[in-house]
Amino acid sequence: MPRDVILLTPGPLTTTERTKRAMLRDWGSWDSSFIAITAELRAQLLAIVHGEGTHVVVPLQGSGTFSVEAAVATIVPKHGHVLVLDNGAYCKRLGKLATLMGRQTTILPHAEDAPVSVQALEAALKADASISHVGFIHCETGTGVVNPLQAVADVCAKHGKGLIVDAMSSFAALPIDAREVKFDALVAASGKCLEGVPGMGFVFIRNDVIAGAAGNSHSLAMDLHDQHVYMEKTGQWRFTPPTHVVAALAEAMRQFVEEGGQPARLARYTANYEALVGGMKALGFEPFLDPAIQAPIIVTFHAPADPNYSFRPFYEAVRARGFILYPGKLTELETFRVGCIGAIGLDVMGEAVAAVAEAMRELGIARGTPSLSS
Ligand SMILES: *Cc1c(COP(=O)(O)O)cnc(C)c1O
Repeated sequence: MPRDVILLTPGPLTTTERTKRAMLRDWGSWDSSFIAITAELRAQLLAIVHGEGTHVVVPLQGSGTFSVEAAVATIVPKHGHVLVLDNGAYCKRLGKLATLMGRQTTILPHAEDAPVSVQALEAALKADASISHVGFIHCETGTGVVNPLQAVADVCAKHGKGLIVDAMSSFAALPIDAREVKFDALVAASGKCLEGVPGMGFVFIRNDVIAGAAGNSHSLAMDLHDQHVYMEKTGQWRFTPPTHVVAALAEAMRQFVEEGGQPARLARYTANYEALVGGMKALGFEPFLDPAIQAPIIVTFHAPADPNYSFRPFYEAVRARGFILYPGKLTELETFRVGCIGAIGLDVMGEAVAAVAEAMRELGIARGTPSLSS
């Protein structure tokens, strides 16, 4: 296969040829061969978080947001109250979807260049006893900041509050152990660090939480309790499954295990991240975040101060050399983002930095240095 453009984005990601080839078949949704693929995949997903016996994993059709929405709809009762720890765009999305479905929602705002504060969470829980659940983003993909999962889970457990974790961009790369981190629901998806194709999400839910979740959801399609009960009974998905996405994820999962699982994936992404940041800094670019709070998932860079820079032509010039960058998601500052995840390694990261350097020469951008540090 000729090489596709490399996706340096937070999903969809570059996938392997093996993963793409796994989609060259058709499956019947209630045929035993497809039921077996779903069952094996669910067991492997559960093993990644060490949730066997204590948690279930419920897959759902759609992009990752569909599963976040389903988790909130299924876990938070209609008269529940969700506190959202907000330090970026995906936090705001969680707050918005909870509000739109009619759950009482309180947003706890934070700066975008720092992790959410465990002290602020504790104070908010003490100040309002009606809060029933906390909505939390593990890696806020809008900037790349990693938020303190264990500490937030410990505070929620101490105060007897439910916790819904959006671990979309961290799951399978950063360690998450359900034996240590107490959550009600933790959400991830096919097209992120497992390196499948986009099209399905999955939600890990504690056994006691799913057992008590009947009737919470206002929505039929978003009801994970219903999806779970049906899948346990029949082995099938409620409604048409994304068969090719499931088959691709099963194949991506095989490669994940062959590579050495989560530690190996984190090591590869960390090497990608270091090569990217080292190469970009040599060109003058500056990351937005302090490296101490940065996940090796996606990096936000300040836009260069050079008057010849604007994002669109820069994007097109890098695109012409085979790499897709991602626009920034900050309201105040001009930035762009570069992903470190997907079926890529150091060689590709080196080529990507070289493509950025060539794009700069073409556009007459002398240095990547942003205005704040000039
Ligand atoms: C990718 C992502 C999502 C889901 O986004 P979709 O576009 O719906 O797939 C949600 N939360 C975070 C933190 C993400 O990185």
